[in-house]
Amino acid sequence: MLDRERIRSLSDREAAALDERTPTSAAMYRRAGAVLAGGVASSFHAREPWPVYLARGEGQRVWDVDANEFVDFHNGFSSMLQGHAHPAIGAAVSGRYGQGTHFAAPTEDALTVAEELARRFGLARWRFTNSGTESTMAAVRIARAVTGRHDVVKILGSYHGHYDALMAGLGAGYEQGIPPATLDRVHPVDFNDPESLERRIGDLERAGRAPACLILEAAMTNVGLALPREGYLEGVREITSRHGMLLVFDEVKTGLSIAAGGAVERFGVEPDIVTLAKTLGAGLPAGAVGMSAEVASAAEERAVPHFGTFNGNPLGMAAARANLLEVLTPDAYRELFARNDRLVAGCDSVIADHDLAAHTVGLGAKGCVAMGSEAVVDYRSHERSQDVELSRLTWLWFMNRGFYVTPGRGQEWNLNVAHTDESVDRYVEVFAELASEMTVSPRLSGSARA
Ligand code: PMP
Repeated sequence: MLDRERIRSLSDREAAALDERTPTSAAMYRRAGAVLAGGVASSFHAREPWPVYLARGEGQRVWDVDANEFVDFHNGFSSMLQGHAHPAIGAAVSGRYGQGTHFAAPTEDALTVAEELARRFGLARWRFTNSGTESTMAAVRIARAVTGRHDVVKILGSYHGHYDALMAGLGAGYEQGIPPATLDRVHPVDFNDPESLERRIGDLERAGRAPACLILEAAMTNVGLALPREGYLEGVREITSRHGMLLVFDEVKTGLSIAAGGAVERFGVEPDIVTLAKTLGAGLPAGAVGMSAEVASAAEERAVPHFGTFNGNPLGMAAARANLLEVLTPDAYRELFARNDRLVAGCDSVIADHDLAAHTVGLGAKGCVAMGSEAVVDYRSHERSQDVELSRLTWLWFMNRGFYVTPGRGQEWNLNVAHTDESVDRYVEVFAELASEMTVSPRLSGSARA
C-alpha cells in the first residue's frame, strides 16, 4: 500500500535534487520573466519553480541547458515519433530550404502528403494547417457550414486545442475570455457513453438546436489514456449519421502514432472528418484536416472559408513527406509498437510485484500507468482516480533518473522510433525503484499503527 508520508518526503527530496541540477534553467527563467508573459512561450511550458530548458536532441535523447542527458519519453506530446534530428527529415528540410522556404503558393510536396494521408486514413480530401488548434477549428467550421447548424457536441474533459468553442467542458479556468454565447453552443457528454450522447442530441433537437457534429478522440488522451469500450465508436458512428451530424475524429494525438492510419485504421470506424497535427510535421508546425468526398464537395459548393498564409508551408510539407514515406514505414511501426508492448508488460510486472493499485494502458506508441484501482473510462473516472501528489513525485523521479517525461496530470508516454529495448527496460527498472520506495508492506504498516 502507498506510504503517503513517504511520497511527500520523497517529492520534496526529488524536487530539491532537480533544482540543484538545473541552475542554468533557473537563470533563464529569471530572464524570461522580464520578456515573456508568465515567463513562458506557451502555458504548456509553465512549471514551478522553473521549467527545464532544453538545448538539443538527437535520436532518443535530449539534453538540457545544464547538460543533463535524458531519454525522451515526452517527445513533444508525440510530435517527435521519428526521434530528434532524424537525418531523413534534416535532408528533406535542408533540401527544401535551398529552394525557398515559403511562397504562400502551392508546392508539390503538399500533393504527395495529401495522397499518402488519403491512403492511410481512407478520407478523400485534405487541407493543411499549422497546428492542432487550427485543424479542430477548421473541422468545426466545415461541419457547421455544410450542415447549416451551429451547435456542437464534444466529450467532457477533452482538450482539442485552444480554439474558443472547444474550450467548453474543460473547467471554468479554461473558459476565460470566451463569450458565453460561444460556450453555449457546445455541449459536453461523457466519453464511452452512447446513451448520454443520444439523450443530449434529442434534447437539442427538441429545442430546435440540432447539432452539426460530434468531435471526439477515438481513444481519449490527456486523461492518461481511455480506450473506447467495445462497440462505442460504432455506436457514435450510427447515432451521428442517424441525426444528420458529422463525426469528427480529433486525431491530433492518435493519428500517425497508434497506427499508420491512426484511430481510423486501429478501430475500423470511418468518421467524416479527421484532424491531424503533432506527428505529421516531424517537429515542424504542420496540421491537416481530412474529409470524405461528400463533405469536401459540400464545403466546395458553399465555398466555406479556410485560409492561412502558412498552410501547406513548403518546409513543413517536405518534413511531412519524408516523415510519412521514409521514416514511419510499416517496419518502423512494427518495431515501435513491439517496444511499447515490452514497456507495458514491464510496467505490468512492476505493478504485480508491488501489489500496486494501478493498471497500464498501451496503444501504438503511447501508454501510461494509471494509479488507482478504478479503470479510467472517461474524464470523471480520471478525476476520481487523480493522485496529484503521486503524479508530481513520478515526474520528478523519472526526470532525476534520466527520463524526460511528459509534464502534468494525465499525460501519457510517447515512444519514438529511435528508442531501444535497453531504454525501455531501464524505464521499467526506474519505475520498480519508485514502487519499492513509495510502498510499505501491509505487515509494516500494521505494526506502525499498533
Ligand atoms: N487536439 C488534441 C487531442 C490535443 O491533444 C491537442 C494538443 N495537445 C490539440 C488538439 C491542439 O494542438 P496544438 O497544440 O497543436 O494546437
